[in-house]
Amino acid sequence: MNFAPPHVAPVLVAHLPEPEPRRRLRECFDCGQLHRMGPLPAGVVARCLRCHAVLGRGRRDPFSRPLALALTGLLLLFLAVQLPFMGIDLYGRDNAIHLTTGAAELETYGFWELGAVVFAFTVGAPFARLLCIGAVLSGLRMARPPRFLPLLFRLDERLRPWAMVEVYLLGVFVAYTKLGDLAFVQVGLAVYALGGLMLAIAATDAALDPDAVWDTLEARGLVVAPERLAAALRAAESPEARVNELIACTCCVLVVGAAEATPCPRCGARLHRRKPEAVALTWALLVASLVLYVPANMLPVLTVSRLGQGAPSTILGGVQQLAAAGMWPLAMLVFFASITVPVLKLIGLAIMLISIQRRAAGRLQDRTVLFRIVDAIGRWSMIDIFMVSVLVGLVRLGFVASVTPGAGAVAFCGVVILTMLAARTFDPRLMWDAVARVQAPPRRRVALRRWGRPKPFTARPAS
Ligand SMILES: [Zn+2]
Ligand SMILES: [Zn+2]
Repeated sequence: MNFAPPHVAPVLVAHLPEPEPRRRLRECFDCGQLHRMGPLPAGVVARCLRCHAVLGRGRRDPFSRPLALALTGLLLLFLAVQLPFMGIDLYGRDNAIHLTTGAAELETYGFWELGAVVFAFTVGAPFARLLCIGAVLSGLRMARPPRFLPLLFRLDERLRPWAMVEVYLLGVFVAYTKLGDLAFVQVGLAVYALGGLMLAIAATDAALDPDAVWDTLEARGLVVAPERLAAALRAAESPEARVNELIACTCCVLVVGAAEATPCPRCGARLHRRKPEAVALTWALLVASLVLYVPANMLPVLTVSRLGQGAPSTILGGVQQLAAAGMWPLAMLVFFASITVPVLKLIGLAIMLISIQRRAAGRLQDRTVLFRIVDAIGRWSMIDIFMVSVLVGLVRLGFVASVTPGAGAVAFCGVVILTMLAARTFDPRLMWDAVARVQAPPRRRVALRRWGRPKPFTARPAS
């Protein structure tokens, strides 16, 4: 029977909207479990069936809102760089600084690597991230979007952990409180702009839906290799596909049937079934950071001199000074961020590496949670470095008062970066692989059938 009125033109089936959302394979990057997942409705969170890692979140407005927020962030960053940042007044001598003064002053003391890191983490990475997001989302609104959009979006994904505005603000707060006893300190408008920038970046990340952006880039034909993408997707969906021939791209999360170490046909990132040489590389980075941990705690991170007198102080010395001045909450905060977190990371990663090598089966779920904690808290150790950069820039009052950086700060900064890199080279899926290899020989057919059928994913509304 045909219910269509006779005057309606026939519509090609291919042009009709799909009757149900397209479901694609999705690998959990914490445990390696494969799922089938379609586009998520707004407010819904999809979690891994095996380890409960978040696989995706449905956003209400994944394009306009993050674009507006990213552009607001760029404006706030411009204001934060241009407006006065902080001022100090002591015995009639005063000094005012901008956001980038601290990094520049570190270079004049010969600590150019420290200055470069502070600048890159507080201005460079946030600027590049917001610019990439803004360019991709506004590019997608064009009739003929430029071809380099996937490259920009990939760059944003890579820069994400290195933009540390919120950590810097906490470092500013510690520096401000430390100086409160010593001198009259003024907070400039740039600090408020930086606070706004922190909120804008957090809101952009909350509103942005990378899956939706990648799907739209793909739908508009903006992929690195369109023909290879079609072939790789066909290979992934074919009933003959074997689980160990499928590779999930760690950048754009697409699961494809492709050869190891080839570039992802959608985003161009190199494809690896597991992160290459993960165990050896993570061990190497861990040992290197352990070696640096000794000078980081033995050497002074800064020297505060007042009226020509002052002694160098280490990280622990700084905590003791804060405690002696009665600033207990701040002392505990700095102690936790600078001493506890690096040790926790070193021990946590070592436990996970040993458990892979010993093929330990116990507490897999707990070890995966441990990995998520280690990965998330690492950046907060930068508080001390950022505090040093603020103090060095601000307290330049000649004989009256001055703060000079110490070699311990470079070593400590090295520890933080190396442990962050170690958490990124580590592959938690290897912990699950090690157990799977012990418990049962790989039964590819069974495994394929297990994930091959569309299966409901655990979803709960976001609170
Ligand atoms: Zn998982
Ligand atoms: Zn990719």
